[in-house]
Amino acid sequence: MVPYRSILIVGGGTAGWMAAAYLQRVLGSNPELPVQIRLVEAPEIGSIGVGEATVPTLQATLQAMGIPESALFTQADATLKNGIRFVGWKHGGSAASDRYDHPFDPPVTLAGHSTMVHWMNLHQRGLSTKAFDEAGGVQTALYEKNLSPKFLNSPDYQAPITYAYHLDAIKLATLLRTVATSRGVQHSQGEVTEVEVGEAGIQAVRLKDGQRLTADLYIDCTGFASLLIGKALDVPWVSYADSLLCDRAVACPIAHPDAQQPLRSYTTATARGAGWTWEIDLQTRTGTGYVYSSAHCSDDEALATLRQLHGSAVPMAEPRLLKMRIGHRARMWEKNCLALGLAGGFIEPLESTGIYLIERALQSFLDYLPATPSATQGRSKFNALMGDLYDELRDFILLHYIISGRRDTPFWRDYTEEVAVPPSLQELLDLWNEKLPHNTDIQRKQSLFASGNYFYILAGLNRLPSQGIGPARYLPPAVSQEALAHIAKIRAAAVQQSPTMREYTQKMRAL
Ligand SMILES: Cc1cc2nc3c(=O)[nH]c(=O)nc-3n(C[C@H](O)[C@H](O)[C@H](O)COP(=O)(O)OP(=O)(O)OC[C@H]3O[C@@H](n4cnc5c(N)ncnc54)[C@H](O)[C@@H]3O)c2cc1C
Repeated sequence: MVPYRSILIVGGGTAGWMAAAYLQRVLGSNPELPVQIRLVEAPEIGSIGVGEATVPTLQATLQAMGIPESALFTQADATLKNGIRFVGWKHGGSAASDRYDHPFDPPVTLAGHSTMVHWMNLHQRGLSTKAFDEAGGVQTALYEKNLSPKFLNSPDYQAPITYAYHLDAIKLATLLRTVATSRGVQHSQGEVTEVEVGEAGIQAVRLKDGQRLTADLYIDCTGFASLLIGKALDVPWVSYADSLLCDRAVACPIAHPDAQQPLRSYTTATARGAGWTWEIDLQTRTGTGYVYSSAHCSDDEALATLRQLHGSAVPMAEPRLLKMRIGHRARMWEKNCLALGLAGGFIEPLESTGIYLIERALQSFLDYLPATPSATQGRSKFNALMGDLYDELRDFILLHYIISGRRDTPFWRDYTEEVAVPPSLQELLDLWNEKLPHNTDIQRKQSLFASGNYFYILAGLNRLPSQGIGPARYLPPAVSQEALAHIAKIRAAAVQQSPTMREYTQKMRAL
C-alpha cells in the first residue's frame, strides 16, 4: 500500500521543479508501483526569478537527483561560493575598514581544541591581532584572490573544502524541468483559478480553460500567492515582521565590464541605511539587489541606492521591485497539501536559505511519508520540525543585525535598540556572554547553522565573551600559537594550489 499514487504540483518556480525532479527520482522510478507526477504552472504569472546564492546542502540534493555537476556550469551560469563577505555591518565603514567573512568550512580542532578556543586564547592576551575569520580557518584565504574551493581535477560534488553555488535561478528551474520531464513528470500550462476544498483537504484544482485536475497529494509551489495552503486551506500565517524588518527588495543584474572579469568566489552583503545590498558574480553577469525595510526607505530611495552601487556598470534589465512576506505557515503540511518554497514561508535572503528550505522540506516530507493518507503523526512531526527550523533561521539572521555597532540611521537604531529579540536568541546571547559557543548550546530539532557559524558572526561584530572563556584560560599560549601557525601554512598552500574561479568555470564549460 502506498499513500499517494498521484501528485499534483502547482507552480513552476525553483520550488515546483525541484519537487518534481526530486520526487520523480525517489517515488516515481519503480515501474511496478507507478506514481504519476504532474506540474501545472501559469507562464503568464511567472516565477520570482531571484535566488542566486545557495548553501552547501544543494550538492547532495542535486546528486540525489542524478544531475551531473557540470550541468550547473553549462546550463545555469554557475560559479562556486566559499561563503559570504559582510561589509559595513560593524559601524557603517568601507570594505577596507569594516568587513568580516562567514565562510562555509567550520572551525577545525587542533591539539584538542577548536580554533575558536585557540584564537580567543591569543586574542584575550593581546597576542594576536588577526581577525578570527583570517586566523581561525583556511577558506577565507580563497576569497582574496577569487579562488575556487575546488581543484581543476576535483570529482563531481567533491572538494577539499565545503562549498556551495551561485547560479541563475531561472536557468536552474529550466534545468530541473528538463530533468523532471525527461523522466516522466507531466507538464501542464494553465492558471489555477479555483481550488475545491473538502473534508480531506484539496479535492481538485480548476484551470482558467475549464480543466479540472485531481490528485492524491497537492504540492503548493505558487510562491507568495500561496494559493492552496494559504488561500484555499486558510492555514494561519506566523509572521516574523516584528523581528525581521526588511520586507522589500529591488533586484537588477549588471554586465561584467569585460568577459575575463575576475569572478568573486563569495557573496558580498553590504549594510546600507535601511537594509543591505547583495552582489553575486555569475559567469556572465553580476546579480545585485537591495533588501530593505519599507518602513525606513521608499522604493525610490532603494532604487537610488542600487543605482549608486552599480556606478558605471551597465544594467542588463529593468530593476524589479519585490514585496517579501517574512514568516511561515503555521503548518506547511495540511491534510493532503504540502507547501514548498515561498508558498510555505520565507526568511530574508541574507544567509541564502530559501532554496535550502525547499530541500529540507522535501527530505523531511519523504522521511515522514505516511503509511496512509489519513495518518497524522508524521505530519505533525514534520510541521514541528519545519516550524523550529524557521525559528532557527530567524534567530540566526537577526543576530547579524542586533549585535551590529551601527546607530547611524533609524533602521539601525530600531534593529539594535527596539526590535523584539526572541527568548531563544536572547538565551544564546546571554550564554555566549560567558563562554564560547558550542554545538550543544543550540538546542534545535535540526540545525543548518552550528556553533562555528554563530562564532564567525559574533567575532566579526566583536561580540565576544566578556568574562573568562573556559578552557582557553588554562591553555599555554604557545599551544595556540602553534595551532594557528598550522592554519596559516594550510592557507598559504591552498592559495598556491587553487585555480581562480574563472579558470574553474572555463574548465567546467569545456567538459
Ligand atoms: C529578494 C529575494 C532574494 C532571494 N535570494 C535568494 C538566495 O540568494 N538564495 C536562495 O536560496 N533563495 C533566495 N530567495 C528565495 C528564492 O527566490 C525562492 O525560495 C525560490 O525561488 C523558490 O520560489 P518559488 O518556487 O517558491 O516561487 P516562484 O518562483 O514565485 O514560483 C511561483 C510559481 O507559481 C506559479 N503560479 C502562481 N500562481 C499560479 C496560479 N494561479 N496558477 C498556476 N500557477 C501559478 C507561477 O507561474 C510560478 O511558476 C530570494 C527571494 C527573494 C524575494
